[in-house]
Amino acid sequence: MDQALKIIGSEEWCQIDAIGIPAIKARVDSGAKTSSIQATNITPFVKRNENWVRFEVNPLQDNLSLTLDCSAKVIDIRKIKSSSGIVEERYVILVPIRLGKDFFEIELTLSKRDNMEYRMLLGRQALQKRYLVNSDLNFCHGNYSDEKLQGLYSHLISQKSGYQIALLATDRTLYSNKRLMDAAIARGHEINFYNIQHCYMRLDTQSPEVRYRGGKLIEGIHAVIPRIRPNMTFYGCALLRQFKSIGSYCVNSAEAISQSRDKLFSSQLFNKHGIDIPITGFAKSPLDTKDMINLVGGAPLIIKLLQSAQGKGVVSAETNKAAESVINAFKSLQANILVQEFIKEAGGKDIRCLVVDGKVVASIQRQASAGEFRSNIHQGGTASKIKITPDERKMALKAAKILNLDVAGVDIIRSSRGPLLLEVNSSPGLEGVENATGIDVAKTIIMAIEKKLRKKNASNL
Ligand code: ADP
Repeated sequence: MDQALKIIGSEEWCQIDAIGIPAIKARVDSGAKTSSIQATNITPFVKRNENWVRFEVNPLQDNLSLTLDCSAKVIDIRKIKSSSGIVEERYVILVPIRLGKDFFEIELTLSKRDNMEYRMLLGRQALQKRYLVNSDLNFCHGNYSDEKLQGLYSHLISQKSGYQIALLATDRTLYSNKRLMDAAIARGHEINFYNIQHCYMRLDTQSPEVRYRGGKLIEGIHAVIPRIRPNMTFYGCALLRQFKSIGSYCVNSAEAISQSRDKLFSSQLFNKHGIDIPITGFAKSPLDTKDMINLVGGAPLIIKLLQSAQGKGVVSAETNKAAESVINAFKSLQANILVQEFIKEAGGKDIRCLVVDGKVVASIQRQASAGEFRSNIHQGGTASKIKITPDERKMALKAAKILNLDVAGVDIIRSSRGPLLLEVNSSPGLEGVENATGIDVAKTIIMAIEKKLRKKNASNL
């Protein structure tokens, strides 16, 4: 055995000055030949008659809103098979890296951002003749504290603009909540998480107040981002109205959220404004089950519990008999139900458009797993990026506007008679959309808040 080989753990910090990266955590992966780095907005260009590439890197896996602009000379373009078996053409660059005290050159392929947790992989080529991998260890060549990393990346964190933002939610560890907090910090704002259940209020014409667990007064909040769970709508919206009364801008407003959560009311609004939805019947424990089925054109049918979320209360019925049994079962629970024509031609797919401040900023298609018609990710559906049609875009924007939502997830299903609106979500999850499209939706939401606050300030002058 070569005595000169050093031990390397399964994770190590690297420094790549040549492309301006002071620290990036790499996964040591002897299963991959070439090392790779996750990059977005990869654009080739020519510099002094040489082929170069410009790209963005989010060096910290815990803060995807920190973005570095990098560029490097291209030394090759290679077909690389990813771990999921997909062959991808990738640019290859040659860069010197520092790993602890070691300094050496490696080939690095630019891999498009995917679901991968690590921003960089160190492959066999980089390890050969240098290291022996001990996968039980990590950071054998030095570790960084959070403070040290903050210091290294302080130049990327904008100057404080003075905006105080409150994230009103239930669980700060959820992907969407974490991303919104990171994005706000990266844009120079101060953001605090408040658990809805721990907030309380004083209703008073002179000095209304919102207080937090332990009596802390919550004041001076410029903007509130509500991420209210369906079972918290009533209290969460009351709290939002209170924030509004103390001068905070709420994205979205209490009125818009409660309206969008009432599926019956929002469907009536869509109809009123000429937005097509699947033919739908609503009822509270209908006495005449058969007529309810005929009303929407008979089986195959979809039956939904009005308060369904994540596809949990949605069932299909192939025959009128089956539909009758399901409706009768729901009836015995005194549930509010919705009976809807089954859009067979959608083939278990639907589209989720993320609307922020009057623009569709990202769209994905969700495909149900085999034998399933519900495309919800929670029901095993998979998401991929999709280009929507102008009609679908128009529908998504119009639906968000009708409900007065600044941020909305609009679900559309493709039918043989054109796009049909399924539902509009006022607290859309960001994970599926960001991972499938590589778009920093959290940052877009924070930038939309900044725009609103600038406008609000200007009109107060
Ligand atoms: P939830 O609010 O519980 O997610 P949805 O109304 O969005 O309920 O329905 C869940 C999924 O079922 C949708 O994403 C879609 O894939 C499928 N689906 C819903 N309605 C229909 C329909 N009328 N025809 C065909 N598929 C449907």
